[in-house]
Amino acid sequence: MCDNKKTPLPLTIEPAVACDLDDLATDVPCEEYDKETALERMAANAEAMADISRRLYAENKRSVLLVLQGVDAAGKDSTIRTVTRGMNPRSLVVHSFKVPSDEEIDHDFLWRIHARVPSRGEIGIFNRSHYEDVLVVRVHDLSPGTDWPRRFRQINDFEKMLAEEGTVIVKCYLHISRDEQRERLQARMDNPDDHWKVNLRDLEERKLWDKYRAAYNDAITHTNTSHAPWYIIPADRKWYRTLIVSELLLGTLRDMDPQYPAAEQDYGGIVVG
Ligand code: ADP
Repeated sequence: MCDNKKTPLPLTIEPAVACDLDDLATDVPCEEYDKETALERMAANAEAMADISRRLYAENKRSVLLVLQGVDAAGKDSTIRTVTRGMNPRSLVVHSFKVPSDEEIDHDFLWRIHARVPSRGEIGIFNRSHYEDVLVVRVHDLSPGTDWPRRFRQINDFEKMLAEEGTVIVKCYLHISRDEQRERLQARMDNPDDHWKVNLRDLEERKLWDKYRAAYNDAITHTNTSHAPWYIIPADRKWYRTLIVSELLLGTLRDMDPQYPAAEQDYGGIVVG
């Protein structure tokens, strides 16, 4: 929690404690940073991440999975754009999950997800994820009769398996207020250059705000585990949101401390003819 107003940190919830997003701030004051200093800090973070992601790739043992969830206009795309700046494209895989295809629907809900998890050495970012299967699917009753507690357990088991196999999972909920969402959607309408982003379906989804909130609270409560914790990112201020995610990702990589593998032999004396 950013309670000392100095450090940009996500909000966290103890595992097994019920999540109530209405009680968590979407805008947290933080005295140390303003937009300009945040941008400088993110540029420095990007340089550090470029170096560590290179080592992660060379080490070729573990991976990172950053899951980004949030309502429409919460800022998933723009967060990804900024935090991946400068990263080695070979070690980065970003995937946006859309409405499932017929083939995907004909499989278990984790089938398409598993196919996209990062390989060893990679940083994977999910723009939406398997959580859509306990969010939009639940809100719109797209899978009647689904046993939601069972689905949460399946998600936890799946994430546990990934963690045990060397994937460090970081799940972020980009937390914006309802008013902020209205302003962002309105700004898109008012700016012809942003009309490509407009999807009138977003306006219909917005009417279901309370249902989404309930589904998010339930999903976060039941999938907030020590092996795959949720981080609630106060996201009304865009630069602040992105700074927190950037710090989280860099902190995760630093804790992993990947190492270049030892060479099989000493190549130092070899002269290339
Ligand atoms: P975005 O809103 O992420 O920028 P799109 O406008 O293409 O991208 O929206 C993707 C849509 O796909 C979202 O409305 C999302 O709810 C939907 N979606 C993702 N996963 C599923 C799923 N498993 N079942 C149904 N809809 C899904």
